[in-house]
Amino acid sequence: MRTLKNMDFEITLTRGRVRNFMKECRKQAATSKATRPSTTTPLFKELRIAHVGNTLANRLALFLRGKGCAWAEASGGCTFCGFWSATNMGTEVRGEDLIEQIRKSLSHLSDQEASAWELALYNDGSLLDPQEIKFESLIEIVKFAKGMHGFKRLVLECKISDITEEKISVLAELLGDRGLLLAVGFESSNPLVRDVCINKPFSDSAFQRALCILKKYHFDMTALIIVQPPFLTEDESYTEVIKTIQYLDDKRLQRIDLELTTVQPFTLVEQLWRRGLYSPPSKKLIEKVLAWIVQTETRTPVFISPVKYSPAVLEMPSSELNDQIAAVNTRNAYQISDRLMQIEKLVPQNPVQATRLLQRINEFLNLLEMSSLPLEKRNTGSKLKSFRTEDLCV
Ligand code: SF4
Repeated sequence: MRTLKNMDFEITLTRGRVRNFMKECRKQAATSKATRPSTTTPLFKELRIAHVGNTLANRLALFLRGKGCAWAEASGGCTFCGFWSATNMGTEVRGEDLIEQIRKSLSHLSDQEASAWELALYNDGSLLDPQEIKFESLIEIVKFAKGMHGFKRLVLECKISDITEEKISVLAELLGDRGLLLAVGFESSNPLVRDVCINKPFSDSAFQRALCILKKYHFDMTALIIVQPPFLTEDESYTEVIKTIQYLDDKRLQRIDLELTTVQPFTLVEQLWRRGLYSPPSKKLIEKVLAWIVQTETRTPVFISPVKYSPAVLEMPSSELNDQIAAVNTRNAYQISDRLMQIEKLVPQNPVQATRLLQRINEFLNLLEMSSLPLEKRNTGSKLKSFRTEDLCV
């Protein structure tokens, strides 16, 4: 009989294997880049939609080139995340360089950009992690941005574990009557899935603590949920997503964003996909989730991030599906297809079973080990035959 101690041991072993694969992916990403780009030039900026209560406004999103996610550096990072390749991959980016990136980004704005209600800063990591950016530098950046732009709310991406009262109280004083919204990767309400499928372990109490700190200062949080992380069947993924939305719905978040897993270079997801051991969310799964959203009244608005927000992606959903995602995001009743309203709203009923999941992950990792793919075979754009994860699952 399997004891709790045995289970802990299996989780530890599996976690270690997943991390080793991810660390190898990051190493290969570094090897593939001959030269490092300038650290004073931002990645890009983009006008997006901000949700202010029930109305829409403009969000100016600035993508800064940062040092790179400290979690990815330490542990390989999240199994689906290819953002590491867009960063300086562990090499310091000085505070003054980041300020220069902000200066360049906020110069020569269009009227819409200049009057954007919300300003969002992303560094493909966590802006509240001092290993990526010193907190004093972040303060200087916020001061500088505040001086150059009249945004009403600042959005910062960060990890849940980096939210402390010490930092939030300083930001509160600095922002004055302007708001703050932290965008965090929550991913799944199932701690085992967070840990071994995604490699982003944190406790429910850590999340609750972070939320309490933000609420104390009247700040907001957006939580990101991943749709179809590796190693889950389609039915399990559907169950996970719906249960996670339900878990978060009474937490008084500003919004919930669903992120469709994409196949990004130098990730474990890519490795699995190339061997037919992973498929991105299918049309059927996305439609089921969209149908659930349009047919359910949640207290917290739920959106699906368009796939174009990902870095390089090797397999995209169809444009018809993207149109439906856009229609649901804007709750545009005229553009939401009748099909979505007719799909039966399914009650999630295939929960993840820990022992089966651990067995499946280890079998998939064994297959990866048996067929290591040389680096030069990457980025060819060639797509191996991919089939549904449930065809293989144990
Ligand atoms: S998802 Fe976030 S925490 Fe995870 S590796 Fe990517 S940047 Fe780091």
